Amino acid sequence: MNTWTFKSAKGARWHSGALLYALTAYSAGWWLLFEGGGLGFVPGTLLLGHGMIIAAYFIHECAHNTVFTTNKHNGQLAAVLGWFCGSCYGTFKDIRTKHLRHHVENDDVMWFDYEGFFRRHPWVYKATRILEWFYIPAHDILMHTIMVFTAFIIPQRRNQLTRNVTVICIRASLLAVVTYINPLALLGYILAYMIMIIVLRFVDGLEHDYPYNTNLFGGPISEHKGDLVWEQAHTFSPILSWRYEWVNWLILNFGYHNAHHAKPTAPWYDLPRLHRELIGEDPETVIRLWPQLLMYHRYRTYRIFHDAPGIQSVSGPAFLKAAQSAQLTGGNAASFLTAF
Ligand SMILES: [Zn+2]
Ligand SMILES: [Zn+2]
Repeated sequence: MNTWTFKSAKGARWHSGALLYALTAYSAGWWLLFEGGGLGFVPGTLLLGHGMIIAAYFIHECAHNTVFTTNKHNGQLAAVLGWFCGSCYGTFKDIRTKHLRHHVENDDVMWFDYEGFFRRHPWVYKATRILEWFYIPAHDILMHTIMVFTAFIIPQRRNQLTRNVTVICIRASLLAVVTYINPLALLGYILAYMIMIIVLRFVDGLEHDYPYNTNLFGGPISEHKGDLVWEQAHTFSPILSWRYEWVNWLILNFGYHNAHHAKPTAPWYDLPRLHRELIGEDPETVIRLWPQLLMYHRYRTYRIFHDAPGIQSVSGPAFLKAAQSAQLTGGNAASFLTAF
């Protein structure tokens, strides 16, 4: 079959609704930035940013093949969406491989040892922390910069150099055109991109208590590979709202991470129901929004080494309790978009 075919009738409704929303928000965002004048700047930036957020989460759906009947078609959609959320410098195949290893090996499989990097470059670390104090997501700007220059920086991706250079040239030209027509629209785009990064890492930062392992291109595999009980005990669900399920649609239900890890092939719209079925009806099974916001605000400069004064290192059920009482730093770098 060569046409994109949704996996189910329900999927056709929910997925196409979300996709339509993402593309509309993205287009309306650009339109407001170009044509909306001063009044259009804030709504334009927010819509553009949110369109990019949904596109990014949709790439995660494609990585799990929840949208279309074949892997190939899910991959094609993800490759298109990569142009919307800016993850198209490398290949979707690399995103999918790294992310599926995260699920199977119960590990954050990495190439970039960012802790080592910051230890070796104390001035970069200091500058990063200062920017983070101002709520500028400097740690992830570094990660996304590596993503942009992926084939130049990662030796194992050198074979993607032609593709990488082509994408950089196309995107840089488009941004140059935007700047020429309306520099304020470029500022809106930069802010929208920051919003996307902040939202993605805000949600990602509390989903697991695993440390990372630099075994993306070889090295010892996690001892917890395939251990489903361990996986659930070290996975958490930072959601936006327990009472109003629809609020979680704003992040394509990505916070329901226990349900997602229990059944990675379940599409985003089934996750709230699955959480209640598999994990429980008790709101104590999730991390609610208020403590998440408190932690992000209080410990924003400690999310690299998790070394905030007075914060203890905990895991498993103690991690969940600590998160619910806002006693954790959360992390920055575990994003499915940055596949290294
Ligand atoms: Zn996960
Ligand atoms: Zn996943």
